Amino acid sequence: MPLDFLKRKKDDGDSPTPAAPAATGSAVLPEEVVAQDFLLKLYYAGKTSEGVRMRTGPNAMVELPSMLVGLAKSEIEVVEPLPIEFSQATPTIARPSEAMQWLNAHHAHSPITRHALVVLESIDAVDLAFDTFICSLLDGEVDTSGYPEYNAVVGGVAAHWDEATGDMICRAVVGWGGRGVRGDTDRIGSKLLAGILTNILANQYAMGLTAVERPMPAAGRGGLVCAHCGFASAHERAFYCPKCGMRLLRG
Ligand SMILES: [Zn+2]
Repeated sequence: MPLDFLKRKKDDGDSPTPAAPAATGSAVLPEEVVAQDFLLKLYYAGKTSEGVRMRTGPNAMVELPSMLVGLAKSEIEVVEPLPIEFSQATPTIARPSEAMQWLNAHHAHSPITRHALVVLESIDAVDLAFDTFICSLLDGEVDTSGYPEYNAVVGGVAAHWDEATGDMICRAVVGWGGRGVRGDTDRIGSKLLAGILTNILANQYAMGLTAVERPMPAAGRGGLVCAHCGFASAHERAFYCPKCGMRLLRG
């Protein structure tokens, strides 16, 4: 880009700025700055399905991993809702306090699950304030460190407790992304989303499709402690414990 303002100063006789001293050495600005450009394009994408209402009961949570049988290409991991001490956890390294919470909450998970959480939390497709997330590699490859390639599809089932009825609502969730994008990943993602939804609907406790109304967590408040399992919810509006699904008692 030419630096026009420098030229203008030289040509303008009325300019109060004295002419630049004669060029000597390397400290002189050239007429045009030769720029080296640097750019990183990160592409994260994902899809979620409609919800499926489940008959709740003691086995509701236990059933979740079975919904990925036949689709999972790696170990099926369960990510539980985060308690209140992790309510600010965000996978954003420039915010050290939030990033530390996130790492403390998730360092024990597999590279596949951490990658899935980075993608799906960044695009707001899952929210661990109320979601339980069942995760696996669904398509594509991992690199030599075990992290999914940019076109690998990860995801599974996200489940939360419906605030009105206390029923468990399950939805299929897939995501992918990183330093690149491929045209056919979206189509593969759609196909996998349909496969997971089919599995959810085939579950013995499934009652049918339902509109998903995700609970709205209140930032930084919450603090209701479950009398049944001791879980301290970060979720102010929760009537049901995000972890065990039992009714929370309000003091
Ligand atoms: Zn509980």
